[in-house]
Amino acid sequence: MRNLVLLLGDQLDADGAALGGFDPGRDRVLMIESRAEATHVWSHKARIVLFLSAMRHFAEMLRSRGWPVSYLATDDPAPAASLADGLITAIREHRPERVVACEPGELRVRKLLEQACRSLDVRLELRPDAHFLCSGTEFADWAGKRKTLRMEFFYREMRRRHGILLEDGAPAGGRWNFDAANRSAFPKDGPPELPQPPRFVPDRMTRDVIAMVGKRYAEHPGTLDGFHWPVTRGDAQAALADFIEHRLPGFGSYQDAMWTDMPFGWHSLLSAALNLKLLNPREVIAAAVEAWQRGRAPLPAVEGFVRQVLGWREFIRGVYWLDMPRLLEANHFGHDRPLPDWYWSGETQMNCLRQAIGQTLRHGYAHHIQRLMVTGNFALLAGLQPRAVHEWYLAVYVDAVEWAELPNTAGMALYANGGRFTSKPYISSGAYIGRMSNYCRGCRYDPKLRSGPRACPFTVLYWNFLDRNEAEFAGNPRTVLMARNIARFDAAERRAIRQSADRILATIPQL
Ligand SMILES: Cc1cc2nc3c(=O)[nH]c(=O)nc-3n(C[C@H](O)[C@H](O)[C@H](O)COP(=O)(O)OP(=O)(O)OC[C@H]3O[C@@H](n4cnc5c(N)ncnc54)[C@H](O)[C@@H]3O)c2cc1C
Ligand code: SF4
Repeated sequence: MRNLVLLLGDQLDADGAALGGFDPGRDRVLMIESRAEATHVWSHKARIVLFLSAMRHFAEMLRSRGWPVSYLATDDPAPAASLADGLITAIREHRPERVVACEPGELRVRKLLEQACRSLDVRLELRPDAHFLCSGTEFADWAGKRKTLRMEFFYREMRRRHGILLEDGAPAGGRWNFDAANRSAFPKDGPPELPQPPRFVPDRMTRDVIAMVGKRYAEHPGTLDGFHWPVTRGDAQAALADFIEHRLPGFGSYQDAMWTDMPFGWHSLLSAALNLKLLNPREVIAAAVEAWQRGRAPLPAVEGFVRQVLGWREFIRGVYWLDMPRLLEANHFGHDRPLPDWYWSGETQMNCLRQAIGQTLRHGYAHHIQRLMVTGNFALLAGLQPRAVHEWYLAVYVDAVEWAELPNTAGMALYANGGRFTSKPYISSGAYIGRMSNYCRGCRYDPKLRSGPRACPFTVLYWNFLDRNEAEFAGNPRTVLMARNIARFDAAERRAIRQSADRILATIPQL
């Protein structure tokens, strides 16, 4: 055999680099379901089902082309204990001239493949991942020239380089950034009528995987009732078309808004399909831009969406490869509190967290502001250990892959890398959550109170965080106003905040 082509679970692209030049007469595809990958963090059941079902559908599609595929399934009589194990077994069986793969999205997996091939003295050809619009080298070149990394400047360069939303070389609509027109809260009496996203009813293959995961990973978090994620390219394309037609027009305005029992809002729900490579970011961006050109969606909404896919997604991946492996250990504030159990159950009296975690366990999904300003904000204010918080985010979302999750968690939510690419920590008191949602209305705490038994933990811990880090905040032009706000409190008020905070921090598991 010439090439043993290893396809990982997040590389399900028939036009991807690994399959380039595939010759069914001389090559063979290898796909491995490994228990170690599903248990490396305590994965949500829906995340496991999504990966396994998408892999099985992809293998079936390749076989229907007449391509030889070795598929090592979790429910085989002798399943692979790990990716490395499966790869080593297959190399011994097929004796290929070389193993070919697209470069993995995770450093741990890359090392594991290199080690497995080295141990058998087989050549490993890792091909650059053409899925992304910015390669690792291009990002490193861009970053190398700069003291600080700012997504906004990267994004503008990407818009220019790829000619996206430009008119005569200038940004469409005369501005690069429409944030001011986006990000409204819902009206006080609730969101306007929301177009429901499509639900992809599990076919026979997905139902089998659901049954298998329900049994083998019964103790893992989350539920599989109503699993609805797209697992094939066809379904992912339908999900994209539905978003462009029904929710893109309202995407910008309500990007940051949250509401009780409204898990999806106007969001695209495309991250999992993108991260598994069932969708290509170029087609996603092109579809959004075309909607604007045809007058079907306003420019602020389209720009806001393109910014996420062309800007944030590519930027975050660039940062991952630039800053690994130190990003894994980053802990700027030296935080070491354990993650409370209610992060895994949603059983907390704080309604915002109950809502955000509850929908996470139900769907494997929460939108960006719920991740950043609810679960992430609490983790930072309460001083939870970054590594434990990272493992939680990597476990509970269907779109979770380390290159996307870790920079968002360590860099954006926890400021654990000391502001490498954010100008300030993303922290807020309960007032922000009260403004952007109706969560506080159904809560036993009051976002306005800084002390007493009904004081909102976010509010108390926010002021306590400023109190503890006043000098650092005073030295940063982006946070100097926050430092001035805490400086206005007299000694008695600051003492009361510290006492309330100590009480809250001592009882986190019961909050
Ligand atoms: C702590 C934390 C952890 C996160 N973990 C992940 C993760 O594991 N995987 C993941 O794909 N995203 C992650 N994100 C980013 C973002 O929250 C999700 O991409 C988004 O919520 C997915 O929902 P959506 O598809 O409806 O996104 P939309 O709001 O519709 O946005 C469109 C697309 O833009 C991309 N995107 C938007 N923001 C980001 C971002 N900050 N980083 C990378 N891509 C972005 C996604 O591909 C997304 O599908 C995380 C954010 C935070 C704060
Ligand atoms: S009062 Fe505080 S804890 Fe309760 S929902 Fe509002 S922000 Fe969350």
